[in-house]
Amino acid sequence: MLHLVGNKNNEHEKVVMTTDADSGLTAIIAIHNTQLGPAVGGCRMFPYAQDDDALEDALRLSRGMTYKSALAGLPFGGGKSVIIGDPRRDKTPALLRAMGEFVNSLAGHYCIAEDSGTSPADMRVIAETTPHVTGIEKTCREDPSPATALGVFLGLKAGVKQAFGHDTLTGRTVAIQGLGHVGYHLAGYLSAAGAKVFASDINAENLLRAEKDFGIEPVAPEKILHHTCDILAPCAMGAILNEDSIAKLRTQVIAGAANNQLATDADDDRLKARNIIYCPDFAINAGGIVDIYQQQQNASQETRALAIQRIGQNVADILERAQGMKLGAQQIAVAVAEEKLNACTQNERVYQWAGNP
Ligand code: NAD
Repeated sequence: MLHLVGNKNNEHEKVVMTTDADSGLTAIIAIHNTQLGPAVGGCRMFPYAQDDDALEDALRLSRGMTYKSALAGLPFGGGKSVIIGDPRRDKTPALLRAMGEFVNSLAGHYCIAEDSGTSPADMRVIAETTPHVTGIEKTCREDPSPATALGVFLGLKAGVKQAFGHDTLTGRTVAIQGLGHVGYHLAGYLSAAGAKVFASDINAENLLRAEKDFGIEPVAPEKILHHTCDILAPCAMGAILNEDSIAKLRTQVIAGAANNQLATDADDDRLKARNIIYCPDFAINAGGIVDIYQQQQNASQETRALAIQRIGQNVADILERAQGMKLGAQQIAVAVAEEKLNACTQNERVYQWAGNP
């Protein structure tokens, strides 16, 4: 069932792929780094055109998870899984149970959670065949998306403060791409804070819901990235910031939940050259995983809220360092995360794993 697949640059600790003819499952799990703890990361289900695209996604997303947990000070490593398939057509209980068996084959070194294309309900099915489902042991575990949205909101305010000298949102214009689990709640926070929210979604129902609940102004999906606004909040897919799209941006701040927003490292410099403040994705979108960890620790509501508040400060520190050193914010965020990982290497490795389950 298990076979190794390519691991570009040999940077990841383990990358495995499985196919299961009975259930139709084809999936990849990438474990990037377990320096700080067992790898934790969501499971994305998407109809990738080619296996290579799925592999690329798993490699990039798992690296982001290492950095996200390191920056947020969590005792987790970085991992991610992808299921190749259309969640609306191919997802069955048998497929999810086969995914659970795949996760189980890694003996706890990878812990799965929901992501785009999978839900908390799917995780409960996966938990029938593996105990390594993040936070599932708590029957009352909440959807992490509102916590992610709150972290994004606080990080966005840090970006606004750097751009405009104060973080008041009254009258500021924000363009949100994607009104799903995170984008919807972000629209709510922004509207409550007095911002004027423009938004797009390819799903008409999601757009209507946010229009009805928060009075957002709809924008066509193909226009949202270039809508004139103070803040652009990408909350849908990754790699939307590239040479072409960056040249056409009409915003001063980028602050959104989507993972891997930059198509390449060079896009960090492109944003810097255009004087656009970029709040690095893995720093600003850590609210969900921070809250999952706090729930695992049985933390009080107050402690949970304080933990998410720190995301705003983390983003502010990164932006300040980036400005002071005249470097791109993503570059600084990676350097800070790697500093944390290296500090751990130099002292004592927190989590021991020889690499084979
Ligand atoms: P979701 O699938 O619930 O929502 C995404 C929304 O974007 C959907 O409503 C979809 O219709 C819409 N969309 C897709 N393509 C679009 C396009 N081209 N234009 C406009 N809308 C489009 O996902 P989510 O949980 O809200 O997560 C959003 C992003 O944030 C993802 O990249 C995810 O990986 C990332 N993220 C989510 C969490 C979380 O807690 N849910 C945590 C960290 C990062």
